Amino acid sequence: MNARKMTPWSVALVLALLCGTACAEVPSVEWRDLSDRDLSPQGKAALAIEPERWRHAESTHFVYHYGDAKQADTVWAHSEVYYGWIKEIFGVPEDAWTKKAHLFVFDREEDWKAFKQRVGEGEFAEAFTTGWELFIYRNPFWLAPQKTLAHELTHVIAFRFLEGPLPLFLNEGFAEFMGYRAIVPKGGGSEYDLRVVQLVDPDRWVPLEELASTKTYPGDRIEDFYRESELFARFLILQNPPADRFYKLLRAVSGGTAFDRALEEVYGVTPEELEPRFRTFATGQKTPPKS
Ligand SMILES: [Zn+2]
Repeated sequence: MNARKMTPWSVALVLALLCGTACAEVPSVEWRDLSDRDLSPQGKAALAIEPERWRHAESTHFVYHYGDAKQADTVWAHSEVYYGWIKEIFGVPEDAWTKKAHLFVFDREEDWKAFKQRVGEGEFAEAFTTGWELFIYRNPFWLAPQKTLAHELTHVIAFRFLEGPLPLFLNEGFAEFMGYRAIVPKGGGSEYDLRVVQLVDPDRWVPLEELASTKTYPGDRIEDFYRESELFARFLILQNPPADRFYKLLRAVSGGTAFDRALEEVYGVTPEELEPRFRTFATGQKTPPKS
């Protein structure tokens, strides 16, 4: 009667001890057996770095390239989940693409550096995408691997459902939004819980028009830029339902429609009309009347 019951924690501990790394191992596939081997020049350059080290795997929408299966684990376990989330937010019933996204997971700093040098990528980048490919360095010191991963995967997943590139603030704003969604504690309230998201300091507010026309990463205000862009995506998706309107907006701008026009077509407001409500949402303070 007094037999000790195993708590979920102790079960997890025993499983971890029994499995070692083998349980979660990504099932590898020979290169020649992959259903999609179509790579960009960057993808080919990646596989040319320590070529004998690369292993490959495949799931419904992704092909994985990695050196160490343990390091590729998180990517393998989450990519299809994030794919499902995005498809659901977008309200897309059928994915018209048969092509798979290619995910390259680097786990050695020297390889990552050599690769970036070869393709001319910035020294400090920890991940970048080329449309359907994601190159990511699995930094052992990552504080929030899931957030970074969800952010980066969002770029390649959204690409499937769009007509072309997005304006910077929508591209990064939506990726950040998905990044936060990935780290909301499970089982604790809404999955869109705002607790992890910081609001914008009203003194650092960037008018929507200016945010929308940002063409390059603003080096001195990068954090503010990501924060306000994320809050804009969050505001449209959660405060202006249904969420598939957000997808309609993204599609229109990715097809070449100007942001102001697309916003008016989909949400029926101009940026100036929308700004006070967005500002109140993003700063937590009522917008002062214009002087
Ligand atoms: Zn990004």
